[in-house]
Amino acid sequence: MQVEQLKPNERNYAVIEKEALAIVWGVKYFRHYLYGRKVTIITDHNPLKWLMNIKDPAGRLCEMQRKDSNLFAIINYLEKGELPDQSSKARETVILSDNYELDNSGILYHLFTPGSRKRRQCLRRQLAIPRCLIDEILYACHDDATAGHLSLNKMYTKIQDRFYWKGMYSDVEFWCKSCVDCATKKTPKHRPKAPLNPLPAVSGPFDRVAVDVLGPFPPTYNSNKYILIFSDYLTRWPEAIPVPNADATTTAKVFIEEVVCRHGAPRQLLSDNGKKLSIKILLKKFVNL
Ligand SMILES: [Zn+2]
Repeated sequence: MQVEQLKPNERNYAVIEKEALAIVWGVKYFRHYLYGRKVTIITDHNPLKWLMNIKDPAGRLCEMQRKDSNLFAIINYLEKGELPDQSSKARETVILSDNYELDNSGILYHLFTPGSRKRRQCLRRQLAIPRCLIDEILYACHDDATAGHLSLNKMYTKIQDRFYWKGMYSDVEFWCKSCVDCATKKTPKHRPKAPLNPLPAVSGPFDRVAVDVLGPFPPTYNSNKYILIFSDYLTRWPEAIPVPNADATTTAKVFIEEVVCRHGAPRQLLSDNGKKLSIKILLKKFVNL
């Protein structure tokens, strides 16, 4: 593996340019191995793949940016100093142009300083996206096989690292919310609660018993660290038994000795199905005892 640090001026490149630069650098560095051979470069960076597939990318992108009415006003002002006739539009263009710059090939970039402390490293250049390319970018960053249907915030951060257009957040939000795959396959944040079903009435004391475990506590003189609680549903009588551990074998043994032998066998045993008190494991132990 070969690692190369970016030069200070290269650090200001947009992510898409940095990845393209990495390919150029890699091909130059390994030219002795690559010379005269057919080489395949594999990348999961979709915008870059798109950039590689089109002829004269800078020229096409320039054309698209210039066809976009909002971007054209800014480009025209930065290139020729010309402003729209309408005074309000002219004022807006002058103000907005402070946040944009044109590179040598005439492509417009938006200048952006990340707000969060973590990401506030330096001024970033985001490619200014004409409206005709927005859907293509949203698809590449969310729906494509390598995009992974990211959540709103992750997808927005990913897009913000590379691109800019007006109303970007609301477009990303709408795209995520209207994604059918996300809506049908992702686990909802708040799972719908199962309906509550009342338990049938008990027929007598110790007909239904609930079991729970408390602890671990600091060990006692007898090395007990847990308390097993057996509560009767009718009388609310609790049996609290200190035990050194709360595994299924100990629980089953204590249940037989302290509950079944003293109060009779309950018809129902309830537990919260925690790791330690899974009813299935307890039943296996009862059978063994
Ligand atoms: Zn999705």
